[in-house]
Amino acid sequence: MVEDPRRAIPRTDRLMEHPQLIAASRSLGRSVVLGLVRAAQDRARRGEISAAEVVDAVLEAAGSQRASSLTPVLNATGVIIHTNLGRAPLSEPARQALADAAGYVDVELDLPSGARSRRGAAARAALLARCRHADDALIVNNGAAALLLAATALGGGPAAVTDGHHHCSHGGIVISRGEFIEIGAGFRLSDLITAAGTQLREVGTTNRTHPEDYAQALAAGAGCVLKIHPSNFALTGFTASVATGELAALCREYAVPLIVDVGSGLLEADPVLPDEPSIDAALAAGADAVIASGDKLLGGPQAGLILGAGETIARLARHPLARAVRADKLTLAAIEATLRAGASPVHAMLHADLAELRRRTDALAAQVGGTVVAHDGRVGGGGGTGVPLPGWALALPESFAAVLRTGETAVLPRVHDGSCLIDLRCIPSDHDRALADAITAAGHRLGNGR
Ligand SMILES: *Cc1c(COP(=O)(O)O)cnc(C)c1O
Repeated sequence: MVEDPRRAIPRTDRLMEHPQLIAASRSLGRSVVLGLVRAAQDRARRGEISAAEVVDAVLEAAGSQRASSLTPVLNATGVIIHTNLGRAPLSEPARQALADAAGYVDVELDLPSGARSRRGAAARAALLARCRHADDALIVNNGAAALLLAATALGGGPAAVTDGHHHCSHGGIVISRGEFIEIGAGFRLSDLITAAGTQLREVGTTNRTHPEDYAQALAAGAGCVLKIHPSNFALTGFTASVATGELAALCREYAVPLIVDVGSGLLEADPVLPDEPSIDAALAAGADAVIASGDKLLGGPQAGLILGAGETIARLARHPLARAVRADKLTLAAIEATLRAGASPVHAMLHADLAELRRRTDALAAQVGGTVVAHDGRVGGGGGTGVPLPGWALALPESFAAVLRTGETAVLPRVHDGSCLIDLRCIPSDHDRALADAITAAGHRLGNGR
C-alpha cells in the first residue's frame, strides 16, 4: 500500500526548531515565521511542493521577508527629496543611531545623577552647534507641527499682547498674500494656522507686499508676523516682497515676534541653490524663530526644527501644544547623528560629481543596453524650485518602468516622453550591481512576454 505523501510533511514544532528559523523568528517575530511555516505546509498538502521541499520553501520565504511591509526602493528618478519615497534617505550614522535608540535610552535622564533631564538635550546641542545665530532650539514632529505651534503660541490672543498703549491688541498672525502656499496633497499652510483658532491677517497682494502693509496690521494689534518661503513656486515679473531684515526691524518696533518658515532646512547658504534661504541667514537677519523640516535638505528624519531667540523658544516650549507635537526618541537620535556626521547623503547627491555620474551611467549601459542621455535631476520636496541638477540618465523602453517597480529589487525610474529613464544621482554607487541585475531581470520578464 502507498503511504499518504501528506503524512511526510514536517510538523510545525519540528520546523520551528530549525536553527535558521529560530534566527528568523528573532528578526521577524515568531508569529510571522509561523505563518510562513503554515503556508509552506499548505502548499505541500495541495501537492504544489513535495514534503521534502517544505523546509527550503520556508527558508526561502523567510529570507525575502521583512519585518514591515515597507519595500526598500532604488530611487532612479533623479529627484533627491522624493516625498512619495519618504524624503531624505538617512546617513549610516543616523541609521545606527535609530537602532541604538530602539530600546531603553537616556532620552530624558541624566545617568550620573539619576535625575530627570531635559528631553533631547543632545539633539538640541548638535543643532545649536551647527547654527551659530540660534540661542535655543526645539525639535517637534514635522515642519507643519512647528508652524502650528509657533502660530498658536505667538499669534494667539491675549497671551500675545505686550503693549496695550500704542495699539489695540487682538492678536492674530500677519502673512503676505504672496506667501499663501499649498505644499502638496491639497495641504494649505493657511488652513493649518486657522485650524488651531489663530486669526489670519492677510496683507498685500499676490504679487506685491510692502512694509506699510505689514505696519498697518501691526498697528492694528497683530500678535506676530510669519514670513513663509514660497518653496514650491517662483513669482516673477512685477513683484515686491519685504526682506527678512526689514521685517525684523518693523517687528521690533511693534515688539512682536517674527517667525520665518524657510521650509527646506538648509543650515547655511549653498551655491548650488542660490535662491534657497538658510536657517542661519534668516536668524542673522533678525528672525525670532525660524522653522524648517528635518527630512528635506537637512537630510535627516521627519522632524520640525524651531530655532531662535531664547525667550521665544522658551515661550513655545511652555505652550501645551508643545507636548502634543514633541519628537520621539528615534527622531532625536537620528537628528543628532545626522548633524554630527557632517555632510548627509542628500548633500552628496546635490553635489554629485558629474564625471563620476557619467562613468557609472556608461558602465550601466555597457552591462544592460539602452542609451545614455543628458538628464536634469531635481531637488524635490518643494525645495530649489526650477533649479535643474544637470546629469545623465540611461534611457530604456517605457515598458521597463512597471516591471522595474515590481521586481524583486524595486526600482522607481522616471517615465518621460515615452522613455523609462534611470538617473543614478540618488542611487548609492554600492547598489549599481543590484540595479544592473534588476534591469536585466526586467528585460527577461519583458522578453518572456511578461
Ligand atoms: C515642507 C514645508 C512645510 C511642511 O513641512 P513638513 O515637514 O512637511 O511638515 C512647511 N513650510 C514650507 C515652506 C515647506 O516647504
